[in-house]
Amino acid sequence: MFLRKTSPSPPHPLRQRRPNPKMNTLDDFASAKLAELDAQHLRRTLVESAREEAPWVFREGRRLLSFSCNDYLNLSHHPAVKAAAVEAIARYGAGSGGSRLVTGNHPLLGELETRLARLKRTEAACVFGSGYLANAGIVPTLAGAKDLILIDELAHACLFAGTQLSPAKTIIFRHNDVSQAEELLAAQRANFRRALLLTDGVFSMDGDRAPLAELAALCASYDVWLMSDDAHGLGVIGGGGGSVTAAGAPPVPLQMGTLSKAIGGYGGYLCASKQVIDLIKTRARTLVYSTGLPPASVAAAIAALDIIENDPLLVEKPLAKARAFTKALNLPEAQSPIVPVIIGAPEAALAASRQLAEAGFLVTAIRPPTVPAGTARLRFAFSAAHSDEDIARLAQTVRSIIGS
Ligand code: PMP
Repeated sequence: MFLRKTSPSPPHPLRQRRPNPKMNTLDDFASAKLAELDAQHLRRTLVESAREEAPWVFREGRRLLSFSCNDYLNLSHHPAVKAAAVEAIARYGAGSGGSRLVTGNHPLLGELETRLARLKRTEAACVFGSGYLANAGIVPTLAGAKDLILIDELAHACLFAGTQLSPAKTIIFRHNDVSQAEELLAAQRANFRRALLLTDGVFSMDGDRAPLAELAALCASYDVWLMSDDAHGLGVIGGGGGSVTAAGAPPVPLQMGTLSKAIGGYGGYLCASKQVIDLIKTRARTLVYSTGLPPASVAAAIAALDIIENDPLLVEKPLAKARAFTKALNLPEAQSPIVPVIIGAPEAALAASRQLAEAGFLVTAIRPPTVPAGTARLRFAFSAAHSDEDIARLAQTVRSIIGS
């Protein structure tokens, strides 16, 4: 029998490598990074939180009154919203089965877009998988290599993510500083083809509002497209219409938002002209290459919009509760249901949050990088489900903890 003589095969290149004592393994890298975060009191952990009976949250065996949910109108638990979701699952299934450009564009999506455009007084709307996906898709679709983006320094992380996905030149302006934005435009606008100005309508960690009327006027005079992120405005200010309505409805051509706060569910959207929405639907990568929202989320959002549009008293409650709190603590009057109490150091904010938990309140400590260094804070989010008595007890406890 002929046996082919084979020389031993060389070891696989990966096996040939000697371990380099200086090279960190993946686990070493993760452990070192975590230790670094621990030392700075900046490590974050996911704590199981069951919201079976809002505004209460069960966590770590305790029932806490939550001032940390963005479900401002408690619609995630509204019987009509839950029933709409269940009915949509029964009819269309639990998932959408694909990108909206393939088979994921189930009939409820068109209905939701019509409803959002009507509420925001625009020609059209586009629903995305989430608010984060919306911003990450819209910004690079509209701003390219020869373009300029101006963004408020406190704009939400996902607006910044949109700028990172765009080759446009990005300049950050001081928070709500229209004069500085104007100086930057006067100096820079002529060097660029198109320009986009990005701001939150209501700032998520500070609760203040953008000067949208002034920004709209500035953008009009420098030929800049204004985009507002109204995640925390829809359903709670401007009679439910959000921050553009509250600011006297200046022409804001790009109004983005989320279905995850006052709407109580999940998903994101952009309201704009028909042409812009048509462009977004064909080019925004986070829409094209991501699966359409599950039918249940879309049906729940439609049912939530029904409530928001027909119950003006409910819509007013979160802001009224926030204002009762700021009044009780002599803080500047709340402009939205979000009220920050700045503590400073991360460990001090964590300690204050722990003390509040001992007193039965869930108030999350917000630390860098979510907020600038030195401004770790307690972030209070008020909802229609809080009673006046809840607010009074909370204010008293906060006063005793931080001594205001
Ligand atoms: N924009 C702002 C201002 C937000 O606060 C959030 C959510 N934290 C988002 C966008 C992202 O929305 P979503 O949760 O739907 O991804």
